[in-house]
Amino acid sequence: MTKWRLPLGRLQRKVLLVVTVIVIVPMLAAGWLASEWVASSFEQRLERWIMDAARASQNWLQAYQNDADMLGRVLADDKAFVARLQRRPDEDSMPTPVRRIAQELGVHLFQVYTPDYKLIYSSIPIEMEALWESGQTEAVLKVVRKNKSMLAAVGITPVPHDGAPRFYLVLGSLLGQDFTNELAQFTGLKTRLYYREGHNYYDVFSNPDQAVALRSLTADALRHLEKDQKPYYSLMAENGQFRGLYTPIVDTTGRVEGIMFSGLERRGFHDVLTNRIVLFLLISLVGVVIGGLTGLLLSRLVLRPIEYLRDGVMQLSGQNFNASVPIQSADELGDLAKAFNAMAARLRAAHDEQAQRFRKDKLTAMGELSAALAHEIRNPIGVINTSSALLEKSAGDPGKTAELVRMIREESLRVSDLVQDFLQLSRHRQPAFAAIDPVQPMERALNTALAGKNNIAVSKQLDHDGAEIMADAGLLQQAWGNLFTNSLQAMAGRKGELRLSARVDGDHVQLSVEDSGSGIAAEIMPRLFEPFFTTKEEGTGLGLTIANTLVEANGGRLEAQLPEKKGARFTMRFPVYKRAQA
Ligand code: ADP
Repeated sequence: MTKWRLPLGRLQRKVLLVVTVIVIVPMLAAGWLASEWVASSFEQRLERWIMDAARASQNWLQAYQNDADMLGRVLADDKAFVARLQRRPDEDSMPTPVRRIAQELGVHLFQVYTPDYKLIYSSIPIEMEALWESGQTEAVLKVVRKNKSMLAAVGITPVPHDGAPRFYLVLGSLLGQDFTNELAQFTGLKTRLYYREGHNYYDVFSNPDQAVALRSLTADALRHLEKDQKPYYSLMAENGQFRGLYTPIVDTTGRVEGIMFSGLERRGFHDVLTNRIVLFLLISLVGVVIGGLTGLLLSRLVLRPIEYLRDGVMQLSGQNFNASVPIQSADELGDLAKAFNAMAARLRAAHDEQAQRFRKDKLTAMGELSAALAHEIRNPIGVINTSSALLEKSAGDPGKTAELVRMIREESLRVSDLVQDFLQLSRHRQPAFAAIDPVQPMERALNTALAGKNNIAVSKQLDHDGAEIMADAGLLQQAWGNLFTNSLQAMAGRKGELRLSARVDGDHVQLSVEDSGSGIAAEIMPRLFEPFFTTKEEGTGLGLTIANTLVEANGGRLEAQLPEKKGARFTMRFPVYKRAQA
């Protein structure tokens, strides 16, 4: 399974992390606190509003009763009206101006009762469920109209006669849907009226066909309303649809006749403002967006130029000297980009100059090599030329002829050796690397060099502990062959000694050969590896050059050193590839 990673640079990820820790986390905490504060203070305001509005609704109800009461008293004082009432109470008993005012005030109910509560006239055919106590002037009473119960806010005015009531005038309003609609318009809240029937409360106005029982109140809330007769505020009123206030409607006997509900639907903008989670999520979202934009801005302003610089440096380190960085700003990063471009330009110039010098050096070296080669070949060719010219003249002298033929063969052999060595030097064979014991090519070359010779004593001190190197054994054997050939030539058929040693020095293996030959003069030491440098009559001067080239091609170094005793000492050094397991 491949691990998914953000498509961002490491620096960008760090900046994002820092922005997350420094900006987003504290912002989430602040968002939480802010949402708590906004929600609770908004909730408090809503509650206060609902309370005030509910009080206004109650006052409205009270106003109906006051109006009815006031009209009742006006009528009771009207002698003509009382006289008419005594004759025959009917609709026209009421003087026209009073009737008009009553209509304006919404007082539609007009009833006349005898002192023993017998109804003798009613403007609307209704029955009072419960009647008032004597002395009571205002009441909210349950009435039945067309078999439907509802509430009426009424004022009760006794019309006295000789000190005792003769009639009771009951004026008032039926509290129907009109009333609740008016209240809703006036307060901006949903208003419901519940009347009581036994232990239950019913709403008849919201749905005229069906009385809906008030069930959403808990027993505790009901006790609060009925026993303490105090308003009850609920955040989840009317089955959770509203936040609102239930106010008990208490008649003058102290009984709760109904409950008025004023509430605000839990929907819309204010519900968002009181919902802590939604608020928190909204504030967090805004914060995260701000944080993200901050990170993006930072990455554009700071990280982009740094990334350009990094790419430029990577290109330079990969030898691409044409790398350049766009200069985007006139600040420190811009200065850095300018400095980088200047540095890249200088490096480019230095590199070009170096390449040019290298080409020149190569041509010079080739010229020197060709000159040396021509010089080396010219001598034997000259001898061959002269000998072959003399050969023609010495046709009758077999002794001289044989001598000249020998010279021709020797010189052409020398040219052939030279060409062979030269070929070996110029032909670049790619080493076939393998992990090998470095002593193995040395010993093989030694065996070949010593074949048929018994004047050489060999001593070995191999302490390389089985360390291995990465090299081409064949090429190294050839290099060792050249070294041994030189040693044997330096000992020139006399009794001699070859001392071989191998040891590990740090992370390198060091292999040496020391002979007891003529030794190397200090002044020629620096020239040993030069092509065609030789001190020998028959030498080509290529043996050490070839050996050195081969050792370097195998990742090693060849050095001529001062020997411990008389003679010459050559050492090869290679990096250790693998040490033997202890
Ligand atoms: P060549 O053997 O053809 O002269 P080399 O490059 O092999 O060419 O050697 C260059 C010179 O280094 C030799 O001519 C000789 O003077 C010197 N030299 C090399 N190896 C030894 C040695 N083991 N003892 C003494 N001199 C040496």
